[in-house]
Amino acid sequence: MRSCKLIICILTLFCWQYAAQASTLIKNATILTLAEGDDKPFVGYMVFDKGHIIALGKGEYQGKASDSVIDASNKILMPGFLSGHSHLWQSAFRGIAADKELYPWLQALHWTYGEYFDTGDFYNFTLHGALDQLTHGITTTYNHSQRLSATEPHYLESLEASLVAGQHFIFGYNANLALSEKELRSTFANLVKKTAELKKKTPMLALSVNAVGYHQYQDKFPLEMQIAKQYGLIAQIHYLEQYERRFTDRKQWPMFMKDGAVDSNISYAHFIHPTDRILKEAAEHGASMIWNPLSNGRLASGLSDIPKYLEAGLGVGMGVDGAASADIADPFENMRMGMYALRMQHKNASVMVPIEVLRLHTLKTAKVLKVDKLVGSLEPGKYADFLIVDPARPGTGAVFDAAATLVFACSAANIEDVYVAGEKLVENGTALKYNMADIQAELVKRVDQIRGQAKADGKAEAL
Ligand SMILES: [Zn+2]
Repeated sequence: MRSCKLIICILTLFCWQYAAQASTLIKNATILTLAEGDDKPFVGYMVFDKGHIIALGKGEYQGKASDSVIDASNKILMPGFLSGHSHLWQSAFRGIAADKELYPWLQALHWTYGEYFDTGDFYNFTLHGALDQLTHGITTTYNHSQRLSATEPHYLESLEASLVAGQHFIFGYNANLALSEKELRSTFANLVKKTAELKKKTPMLALSVNAVGYHQYQDKFPLEMQIAKQYGLIAQIHYLEQYERRFTDRKQWPMFMKDGAVDSNISYAHFIHPTDRILKEAAEHGASMIWNPLSNGRLASGLSDIPKYLEAGLGVGMGVDGAASADIADPFENMRMGMYALRMQHKNASVMVPIEVLRLHTLKTAKVLKVDKLVGSLEPGKYADFLIVDPARPGTGAVFDAAATLVFACSAANIEDVYVAGEKLVENGTALKYNMADIQAELVKRVDQIRGQAKADGKAEAL
């Protein structure tokens, strides 16, 4: 009932929002469209109306006058970042298990606290995570939600929070594989129907399958893949992440091939330790991976050889993962961490260049997630999802090359404004529609409650 009411309220809000927007001209901006093959920044204009970009070009705009004008002289206009792999709820658990690799870290977080999530926890944590990503310039996220031990209504608060946060998002649904095949099929049928409505009126871009069956319920793994294919959904699988488990993980590849988990609708989160054969077969079948350098560094998982993957023809996108393993949801840090690690590894500065890593965190991630017709670059027809970046505040010196300034010298502090579907949601680091301090205070209370219960049950303190 609560979720029905909430969804009606959201629909009303967003109908109003799209209808109320007036046309806006941004002029004199240094524009990096990040569209395919468009590598050179230029000084020009962009016009958007009713949530979408309607014109963009060099020099002065010659079309009809807009309702409002923003002068972006000496500022960089770029598409908002995408995160192709995120667990938004983890925003509440930063700094946890600071000296642990993946499995002990999972033990310290998911398997210590997961069973204590109560009404409102997933909602508050997810909202906190989404708003934090927005303030760091991430305008579209793949929320790889996780049900932990929660009841269905508690778990679905992860979706409810995303619907109101303002970010464009793909909701990765983590099915309860303890259910029967019939129940699972009907759950997905309902979700697909609900998604069709939500996509029209809210920032939700798509539904996806978080395929988890290969871990625990191998008999259900083919079913997850079948359901994804039946509805044309993308699916995402954690795969080849922890170094110690690489041999075990690689042994599962034949099952992936057999069960339909290797095709252009599938992306693997991490994919750090493939053999040459796995890489070749994944690329040949059109599968993709999401690179999460901050998280892979924090959990000591290893470095994906991205230049090799690109050379092999594998689709590559980037993600900031959950904030409990990449504790600042910051694409600038993520790009630098990944790019510098590759340069160190290869001892070659041209192994990845700024424009390339910018495109990985925007358009190429949109391609992996199959939303590149909607977001990922500044092009007429796409959503007006963009950032206005001011390299002079904080001052970063003279701009020789806009892409290099963004990647090497800027940080989230340089983001002046964040727009999603033509609406300004963040100004100078502050989310405009929410009071982040209140959400943070509530989060701390909720985490205290969860920790208190875990302690009372004699669970080891994870920090
Ligand atoms: Zn993950």
